[in-house]
Amino acid sequence: MLKKIIIAIDGPAGSGKSTAAKNIAQKLGFTYLDTGAMYRAITFLALRNGIAEDISAIIDMARRINLKLRFENGITRVFVNDEEVTGQIRSSEVNAKVSDISKIPEVRAELVKIQKKLGDEGNIVAEGRDVTTVVFPNADLKVFLTATIDVRTKRRLREFQEKNFSITYDEVKENLEKRDKIDSGREVSPLRKAEDAIEFDNSALTPEQDLDYLLVKIKDVLNKSDIK
Ligand code: C5P
Repeated sequence: MLKKIIIAIDGPAGSGKSTAAKNIAQKLGFTYLDTGAMYRAITFLALRNGIAEDISAIIDMARRINLKLRFENGITRVFVNDEEVTGQIRSSEVNAKVSDISKIPEVRAELVKIQKKLGDEGNIVAEGRDVTTVVFPNADLKVFLTATIDVRTKRRLREFQEKNFSITYDEVKENLEKRDKIDSGREVSPLRKAEDAIEFDNSALTPEQDLDYLLVKIKDVLNKSDIK
């Protein structure tokens, strides 16, 4: 049987992880796993249920939630207990709260369990903050993506504008910096570069150049000459 491949990409918000992961998944026919969408879904539900400050209620919810991701036509559709929440999980309220909820070790343990199970199916491109270090420490290729704060802010701002959200450059920048600080500073599974990850700054690259660079690395690792 052919080996089941896992590609893992970590990096701060706006570093282009999801674009790169989606492009790789589409190019290679792999499954795309957006782990951030899972933390966002839990956060959205906690806010909607009025329990966002109640850690034990959040843990309880995380243990009982039925969470499903479906990657279709370039977007990750997210379902909780069979209700679609794809749009709601990207709101500024969720952005403002998600890093606090992601600090809760029991919530992480529940989501990591689901992520590992998806990884068992193989041929997957996962992205997040701890997929190279905790979820898939034995991934075939590990990437740590970065970009300058200005570039990351502009990318996120453009996404908001495309959805007609009214938000300023400074507001987006402040949220990215705040989340990066919490995500990198937390005790459990902080965002950091795995020792054996390749690190690269894609500030000056287009998504296509980004993909080309990563496909070269993937070829190196997999020694697959049939990836064009
Ligand atoms: O990737 P995205 O920006 O959607 O992630 C939202 C938040 O979810 C991050 O800021 C982080 O707090 C949390 N997260 C995490 N671990 C992951 C993926 C996301 O803690 N593997």
